[in-house]
Amino acid sequence: MQRLQGIAVSPGVAIGEAIIFGNEGFRISRRFLPREAVASELARLDQAIAAAAKEIDLNRQRVAEQLGDDYAAIFSAHLQMLQDRKLREELEQMIRDRHYSPEYSVSRALRRYAKVFLSLEGDTMAERANDVFDIEKRLLRHLLGERREGLGELTGEVLILAHNLTPSETANLNPNFVKGFVTETGGPGSHTAIVAEALDIPAVVGTGPFLTEVSGGETLIIDGDNGLVILQPDEETLARYRHEVDEHKQLAAKLETLRDLPSDTLDGQHVTMFGNIEFPAEVKPCLDRGAEGIGLYRTEFLYLTRDVQPSESDHLAAYREVIEALDGRPVVMRTLDLGADKIPNFPMPDDERNPFLGLRSTRLALKHVDMFRIQLRAMLRATTAGPIKIMFPLITNLLELRRAKMVLSDAMEDLEEEGIPFSRDIDIGMMVEVPSAVVMMDHFVQEVDFFSIGTNDLIQYALAVDRSNKDVASLYTGSDPSILRLIKMAIDTAAQHDKPISMCGQMCGNPIYTMVLLGLGLRTFSVVPAAIPEIKRVCRSVTIPQCEEFAARVMSLESARDVKTALREELIKILPDQLI
Ligand code: PEP
Ligand code: MG
Repeated sequence: MQRLQGIAVSPGVAIGEAIIFGNEGFRISRRFLPREAVASELARLDQAIAAAAKEIDLNRQRVAEQLGDDYAAIFSAHLQMLQDRKLREELEQMIRDRHYSPEYSVSRALRRYAKVFLSLEGDTMAERANDVFDIEKRLLRHLLGERREGLGELTGEVLILAHNLTPSETANLNPNFVKGFVTETGGPGSHTAIVAEALDIPAVVGTGPFLTEVSGGETLIIDGDNGLVILQPDEETLARYRHEVDEHKQLAAKLETLRDLPSDTLDGQHVTMFGNIEFPAEVKPCLDRGAEGIGLYRTEFLYLTRDVQPSESDHLAAYREVIEALDGRPVVMRTLDLGADKIPNFPMPDDERNPFLGLRSTRLALKHVDMFRIQLRAMLRATTAGPIKIMFPLITNLLELRRAKMVLSDAMEDLEEEGIPFSRDIDIGMMVEVPSAVVMMDHFVQEVDFFSIGTNDLIQYALAVDRSNKDVASLYTGSDPSILRLIKMAIDTAAQHDKPISMCGQMCGNPIYTMVLLGLGLRTFSVVPAAIPEIKRVCRSVTIPQCEEFAARVMSLESARDVKTALREELIKILPDQLI
């Protein structure tokens, strides 16, 4: 049994069979062969080795011709490893005696070799390990050939292990089959983490390297509450975690009963509970859990799940689907927030050194006005279908906001000229997710109809902590007193000017923050669907004066650690059965 500590990004416990999702989309699960298949599978292995050897030799010749023998030596070394007699014997033994499939045997044997290299000191050892991975990939490519399976063709329940998953790869996971995932890289606020929460599957990111320690088909446990991954668990650990799975189910059943009840506090203050979505299909899970509407529709995911830019009618079709599913309830559509870790498949600016500080979000939209206009036209046209609001992300200064509004006005004029119906009576809002926006809010209030606080970015920009970097994950926290102060400033300024303000960052979907946020004056929460019942339960268990008193106490604390301890203690006092 081996424990890995990573970062908890999506709660719950999953126990199941691992599959490794490689850089090239290989899926290797442990398949046991029937006895009669051993001979033909050995022949298949030999064919794959021969084909891989031919390929390597061809590369060796080409490189030798163009660059000389010294450069070609690397391929000679690969060839030697591939044709090593001991490796062949080991593979044969796995296939013949243990009835493992050739794919599983290749992956298991070569990963063990790579691990030995990685455990040795020196740069050349890491290179040797890379050589071994290269041979593994090459052999798998030949073995799997056309049978190569992506994550789209799953037929049974699995837990995915990967070095990294992009937000769009994560968005494409089918939660009917994928019951959890672990990635070696990634940070707490990454969009991969956010999508995991939206899919409502346990996930742990940022474990550091471990893929050499496991093989597809092995049983593992993902403890999404504590950021733990347990490889080759023993029976006692399995039994303990099965019990935890039951506890989660019991709490979920208890929360289910809150579905149709309002989120009012004990003293009768109404709290509006909205859901966050990335795709139209997520509206239903939000409504099923009692959301009153959608407080954040991350429309950029439409760009992330296709190879070409969506057309005006693609946008319109998606927006209409959302509006229809909401059946009269409101939706805040955020304009495209591409860039940083949300990179579409179509051409974008060259690699940036600091993508989170670069051409991202509204800045990118204003640089590609044609693309922006297409989306805005579709949003405006969608106003005839139901109550929508438009919100601009990552606004950092007034000029930027005015330029975005100008593009929207131009789109309105174009539609008018073309005689295409839309409503001009539409609320325009902005995300408050950069400290400069908080500081300048007394000016922004003149320009917009509403605000939404995006803590995912506010935390990263206020604390200078990359939200998707595992190495600084412990610094990435909404419990930092400076974040609470920024939130208070934003809520107070909005209140002074009578402007609605909500929060749609992950922070307000975490029950430890509910009381302090209520105490600071927040009355509209927009959270991942899975978090709605829990947040509602906290709201229904407290009074506003109680929260205000608690918030005043929390605001006097000086460190994130003290704040977090206070938040946890208070929540447990109120809801002793809350899983934190
Ligand atoms: C945020 O930054 O809090 C937010 C809601 O936007 P996103 O997570 O999509 O950047
Ligand atoms: Mg953001």
